[in-house]
Amino acid sequence: MASHAGRIVSVSGNLLTVAFDTPVIQNEVGYAVLNDLRLKAELIRVRGAYADMQVFEDTTGLHVGGAVEFSGELLTAELGPGLLGRIFDGLQNPLPELAEQAGFFLQRGTYLLPLDRERHWAFTPAAEPGAWLRAGDSLGSVPEHAVAHQIMVPFGWQGRWQLEQLAPAGEYTVEEPIATLVDERGTRREVGMLRRWPVKAPIRAYRERLRPRDTLVTKVRIIDTLFPVALGGTYCIPGPFGAGKTVLQQITSRHAEVDIVIIAACGERAGEVVETLREFPELTDPRTGRSLMERTLIVVNTSSMPVAAREASVYTAVTLAEYYRQMGLNVLLLADSTSRWAQALREISGRLEEIPGEEAFPAYLESVIAAFYERGGVVRLNDGRIASVTIGGAVSPAGGNFEEPVTQATLKVVGAFHGLSRERSDARRYPAVDPLESWSRYPGVADVGDVHAAREMLRAGHEVDQMMKVVGEEGTAMQDYVTYLKAEYLDAAYLQQDAFHEVDAASGAARQRHVFGRLSGVLRARLDFPDKDAARRFFQELTQLTKEWNLVRQDEPAFDEIEGRIAAKVEGVTVGA
Ligand code: ADP
Ligand code: MG
Repeated sequence: MASHAGRIVSVSGNLLTVAFDTPVIQNEVGYAVLNDLRLKAELIRVRGAYADMQVFEDTTGLHVGGAVEFSGELLTAELGPGLLGRIFDGLQNPLPELAEQAGFFLQRGTYLLPLDRERHWAFTPAAEPGAWLRAGDSLGSVPEHAVAHQIMVPFGWQGRWQLEQLAPAGEYTVEEPIATLVDERGTRREVGMLRRWPVKAPIRAYRERLRPRDTLVTKVRIIDTLFPVALGGTYCIPGPFGAGKTVLQQITSRHAEVDIVIIAACGERAGEVVETLREFPELTDPRTGRSLMERTLIVVNTSSMPVAAREASVYTAVTLAEYYRQMGLNVLLLADSTSRWAQALREISGRLEEIPGEEAFPAYLESVIAAFYERGGVVRLNDGRIASVTIGGAVSPAGGNFEEPVTQATLKVVGAFHGLSRERSDARRYPAVDPLESWSRYPGVADVGDVHAAREMLRAGHEVDQMMKVVGEEGTAMQDYVTYLKAEYLDAAYLQQDAFHEVDAASGAARQRHVFGRLSGVLRARLDFPDKDAARRFFQELTQLTKEWNLVRQDEPAFDEIEGRIAAKVEGVTVGA
């Protein structure tokens, strides 16, 4: 490992300019030395004999003439058993352990190894000596909570490797050698279970990328029915402050039908992050009855940490997601909020005195955002299995204005858009996904014709609503009025969902299909009322009844009973019924 030194020639916030005289590499990690502290930094630009480096820590005390040690290594993530259920910062420091070691006030320059070096894991070999393998192929596995954690041929290895020796079933630490492989030119290498991967490069040890096509069931009705997400797809949740982005991501992280959830809490307020951390271990996975944390991994950087660390957290999180995808799993990565990350890019770019683009964001903002979302996707692994990384990013544009660069750059690359509206959150219509603004290119759980009709109904209802504001209810035709009431009914009884109710919080695919089918029947029916008061009363009662329906489990007798009452009620006012 090359290790050489440089000298600080300027300090500007978190940016150091460093003179060097032996070769350095782009994105190399270095350490600014301050007495007995070593502050981690990343080389982000080289100009002649000078390197610009962003420091992942508070730079107080660093001065011109100070020493910088270059490591010769890129910013990497450690991969191996023992990641699930953990909470890391953007540099993959395990946070609870760090807090324990360093006390309440974390000292700068304290870095802990992400993976435990002492712990033994029960390894079961899965390959035969003599077999020819390539990067990403499995050597064996160890149980990690509910996951059979695959130990794979290192992702960066080129060509074919013949397995010479493989450890027998037994207990090993992550660093103990478990396999020896030889390539076609006779190069022999020994590996343990621990892998390292540069976080800014995608892991591509699979056969091919596929088009996302299966719905990722989030159990949020407005999403799965109207604006679905696909396994391996990408989506964004822009919304003004307080509209419910974080709550929506939390609900999704609990209920989504995926194997692993990775939460990248990037630059949000510290209080919010603490809340997530406190709540999560106590929640149980509705599918397994075990702690939700066992399928979750959290990477957090709060707004009080230096901006460079936010950038690192996004890349670390997506690298961890790709790693579990390589094992054949469906992984959901939720990033909150990508705006904070973009602000970090803006700040760094400003310090580098680059030519700014729109709203002072760097001109390469779009390509950086696109490259991040492109790391999601469905892949066919070498052994034919299909696996995915789905990426959902919250965006928090100032004032909720979706025309700003981060939202716009994100919209260009994602496959679904869940725009949260202030109007809806103010009216406590949760989740505040705006059904008129949002869209999706992915298939959902319900009948396509019904979905199309529902969208039309919502649009038509909105138009009548706007018109009524001008001409009043009296000036509105009965038929238009009923359209308006139907749209309101669909919204109140189906699109809105109580995130805190045991049953209502999570609506499975089969239930959504069934209920949405019934509601679509109501929307299609030709209804007749003597006057508008009667129509309004009817829909009030129907809404109430349907909301009650939402609160009972599908296997309770009350489910069929309420369904029958809804049908009878609608039949009573249907023309020609
Ligand atoms: P954002 O992340 O967009 O700033 P939050 O997700 O933190 O907003 O939501 C702000 C507040 O709005 C929450 O603390 C909660 O009181 C309320 N809220 C958001 N979503 C919901 C929901 N689905 N159900 C009930 N209350 C919600
Ligand atoms: Mg939030």
